[in-house]
Amino acid sequence: MSSEKTNTPVASPGCLAIFKNLFISNSNSSPETISEKSALAYALASSSSSTLPPPTYESIHQEMSQVQAATGATLSDLWEQDEFAKTVHLAIEAASAELRAVSLQLHDNPELGYQEYKAHALLTDYLEKKGFAVQRSAYGLETAFVATAGNSEKIVIGVCSEYDALPGIGHACGHNLIAISGVATALGLKAVIEKFDLQATVKLFGTPAEEITSTYPIETSGGKITMLNNGAFEGTDICMMLHGANADVVYPAFLALDTVEVEFFGKASHASASPWEGINALDAAVLSYTNIGMMRQQMKSTLRVHGIIKEGGKAANIIPDYTKSVYTVRAPKFDEVEVLKKRVEKIFTGAAASTGCTVKLTWGVPYKDILTNNHLADKFEHYMNSQGLHYPSKAEQQSKLSGSTDMGNLTYALPGIHPMFNILNLVGEDDKTMGLHTTTFAAAAVTPLAHTATLRASKSLAMTGLECILDSELLQHVKDEYEKNK
Ligand SMILES: [Zn+2]
Ligand SMILES: [Zn+2]
Repeated sequence: MSSEKTNTPVASPGCLAIFKNLFISNSNSSPETISEKSALAYALASSSSSTLPPPTYESIHQEMSQVQAATGATLSDLWEQDEFAKTVHLAIEAASAELRAVSLQLHDNPELGYQEYKAHALLTDYLEKKGFAVQRSAYGLETAFVATAGNSEKIVIGVCSEYDALPGIGHACGHNLIAISGVATALGLKAVIEKFDLQATVKLFGTPAEEITSTYPIETSGGKITMLNNGAFEGTDICMMLHGANADVVYPAFLALDTVEVEFFGKASHASASPWEGINALDAAVLSYTNIGMMRQQMKSTLRVHGIIKEGGKAANIIPDYTKSVYTVRAPKFDEVEVLKKRVEKIFTGAAASTGCTVKLTWGVPYKDILTNNHLADKFEHYMNSQGLHYPSKAEQQSKLSGSTDMGNLTYALPGIHPMFNILNLVGEDDKTMGLHTTTFAAAAVTPLAHTATLRASKSLAMTGLECILDSELLQHVKDEYEKNK
């Protein structure tokens, strides 16, 4: 990195009071009591020239530093003195108010996988306004997009944004933050590519339907997998993304998975007058559920099988002739998923045999585990450390079992990372009081602290991409490692 000295930016006092509403708030406040409304009002006002003064790089920079200092997470000199880092830093902070407005709007309008029409429109319109070439409804998916900026396709840095929500609990996975993290990272890279005339391109991939929610057919893959199969990532050198969480982890142990729809077919009869004439499909479903519970005792603690009975019969006085269940099978590596699949298949066929039912199994599209690229992870960690974070050891990070993501499949198709960043504090302390997919996490995903954490991680991700643009040897190491491990 270059270290040409530049003057420390001077804060404009007039803007500080306004930006306090954006970034300084009690992180324990409920979303109703924090100053979201004023943040949104400011962000909207600032883009339509009202009485409020426009944001300046200096004022935002000063405010963000104050928030970080207040939480004990201070910036190193790097972000002041390195001209590349400073460009990324200021470009992302300059867009902070707008990104905050986008994040809140996404949070207020949660949309399920493949139905993210409002999010698609909001993000693509914004990216176009910021000077990206935008391809809407890209690679066969109505709510996917690709936004591109740069001078040359010699090196292409990919970043992903997700923006789908969960049924009933909205943005409980914080994808509103993932959406703006991708945009922020792309804005940072665009700024530095343009300012220093770098021969590189940044591509932001808008990737729908990451969550498996049973709201679309089981044979339908996560958005990234469809985009991958349709060639979206051809010519892209690396692809990275971020995910908010209750811990900071650069080496997340995302599990590989497959999902199965289990249909039992029996024969209906009167449940009181002639139950002996029926073949009970609900018995088969319940036997399966019970036997999977028993199997857990003989499963390694790193494996997961979990499911629901979606259709259990029509009426209590009819022996059910049809039931439908859905199960997800997970393991740290995909070959272990294959072994576990065989075990659960035996349970389903056994339940069918013992009840006289027939069974139909429909497996979904597998998600692979995350193949974290160490060279990229090291860089990301370095830039997070330079913003006041201190990670536990790699082994400790890997010991934290997590969910699954279609980003896993991407990391087996090209080098990548998927760091998790804590949205609950900025100093690297795990918070076990709330996890992903809870209503409390959904509430946390709109706090100013979460926003600050998102932009901090985005700066680190942009710098990781920039390192690959500036250092051809590093990029080669990244690719060599990927070829060796995939
Ligand atoms: Zn999720
Ligand atoms: Zn998620």
